[in-house]
Amino acid sequence: MHRVDLHTHSAYSDGTSAPAEVVRLAKGRGVEIFALTDHDSVSGLHEAGEEANRLGLRFLRGVEINTREEDNLLVLGYGIDPKAAGFEAALADLRCRRHKRVAAMVEKLRSLKVDIALSDVHAAHKETIGRPHIADALRRKKVVSSRSEAFHRFLAKGMPAYVEPMGPTVQEAIDLIRAAGGWASLAHPGALEAEDIERYAGLGLEGIEVYYPTHTGAVVERLLDWAWRFDLIATGGSDYHGPKTSREEIGSVLFPQDVFEKVLRRLS
Ligand code: AMP
Ligand code: ZN
Ligand code: FE
Repeated sequence: MHRVDLHTHSAYSDGTSAPAEVVRLAKGRGVEIFALTDHDSVSGLHEAGEEANRLGLRFLRGVEINTREEDNLLVLGYGIDPKAAGFEAALADLRCRRHKRVAAMVEKLRSLKVDIALSDVHAAHKETIGRPHIADALRRKKVVSSRSEAFHRFLAKGMPAYVEPMGPTVQEAIDLIRAAGGWASLAHPGALEAEDIERYAGLGLEGIEVYYPTHTGAVVERLLDWAWRFDLIATGGSDYHGPKTSREEIGSVLFPQDVFEKVLRRLS
């Protein structure tokens, strides 16, 4: 088995640690291949890459693009060139749409008589803003005690402060990643059907995230089967966001030898 982490976040999006710190933690846990995959941002890649280089950790440039499809359909991109023409501008546009969504959610909270202002949310974000920053603001104001609680009470789909995401379609996300020289994998697709995966494979998807902290053995088996059927690379990672984020287990994912080798082949 090989410890691999192809799904992590830094404070450039909704993680809480600096990119270099995320790299150090991964290395400390014995991770062999590492990717930083901030939401709609590539600004942490330089710092993370330098630290990985210094520590002799195999580093993959990543990104995670939040689509507007389903509630939480996220497309991971690997091997991207952050300087590819138009890429940063496209991500900046996505971050701008996030600001509109966050503002609408804060308005909903205020109409629910929750004591929060947009400036409270802005105070904590570095680049990409999102629901976790609203959750952190609610925590600072002692309205909730964790990000999870904020999602369960207010921010998750179906909850009173929820606003539909304004990101790209899955097709647009895949195209954006490929135009930047990368390849796309669908993040934690455990709740989807085989037909969905087949359709996304037809759109240019090259991987699916099989190994993920909340995936049971049965889910892993099903996803491995789909990866084989639709000729997709099995990827995986912890979705680390930092201490006290409800997503804290960096380097918690193990790849079997054959899956590890297939990933290595895609990287070379
Ligand atoms: P957004 O990008 O604004 O739609 O927020 C989605 C992000 O919120 C995800 O990428 C996770 O980082 C985080 N998230 C979603 N659900 C939860 C939860 N139950 N607890 C903590 N963080 C969550
Ligand atoms: Zn996140
Ligand atoms: Fe993530």
